[in-house]
This record gives sequence, C-alpha cells and structure tokens, in this order.
Amino acid sequence: MRLSFLSGSVFLMTHVTKKLHTGGCHCGAVRIEVTVDATQGTRCNCSICSKLGMIGARPEPADLRVVSGEEDLATYVWGAKIGTRYFCRHCGVHLFGRGNLAELGGEFATVNLNTLDDVDPADVAVAYWDGRHDNWEGGMRPTPWPIFTGR
Ligand SMILES: [Zn+2]
Repeated sequence: MRLSFLSGSVFLMTHVTKKLHTGGCHCGAVRIEVTVDATQGTRCNCSICSKLGMIGARPEPADLRVVSGEEDLATYVWGAKIGTRYFCRHCGVHLFGRGNLAELGGEFATVNLNTLDDVDPADVAVAYWDGRHDNWEGGMRPTPWPIFTGR
C-alpha cells in the first residue's frame, strides 16, 4: 500500500511494510542493517537535504545498527543541532542520522534509503517537505516544493 494524500496536505500512512534490509556506503567500509518500511520515503528541499539528495525514512532508533565500519564514520551537526548525520569518511556517502526532538517523540533515527542493497529508489513512494521555508504546516505532498519562491 502507498501514501495517500487528501486535499493536498493531509498525509495518511495507510499501511506500514517493515522489513529487514542491509545497506552500506559506496566503498564498503561501512555496513548497516535496518528494519524499516522502505516502500515510502521523504525528500526535503532544505539547505542540506537538497544537497544530499537523500530519500529519508525513519526507523525506530533501535532498529538501525552499524554492522561494520563504526570507526569509519564521520559526523556532521549543524544549525539548531537537533541531529547528527553520519557519513563514510572514505567515500563520503551519507548513510543515516540520529537525533532528539520532542516533536518527533524524542529520540529518532533516519536512514538514507538510497544506501540499502535491495531498494530501488524508483519503487519508493516519495513525499516532499518544504523544509527550506520551515513550512511544516504545509505538510508532505506528492510533488516537490520549489527552493526559490516566486516561480
Ligand atoms: Zn565508504
């Protein structure tokens, strides 16, 4: 089952298909395991998400594990320091993030679905956030929000 959109901004997750996936960075130094619904993901137009081009999903924090290469990870924290992003320090691929935000129920994790071995991004139902303009009330929608307004 897929994402459902009602009146443009209301988002319903109608069914969750959690599955165990393996994944990793490009050079192979870092390997991960995650139990997550990889049939649906989100993209965002904020300053970092648009540069990374990741398709994100949010597993339970305990359902995301680094299997090998923990010592090969580099981290990046910015802005309000809500979360830490983890990258392979050799090939630069961004694999996942961890953070803490009350609005998300406390501790949270994100995973880059593009790094999972058996996930084709073409099969992922993508919903889009307008993070660039902190338009969180606008919710997710099935088409990308523009970075530059007035177009
Ligand atoms: Zn790597």
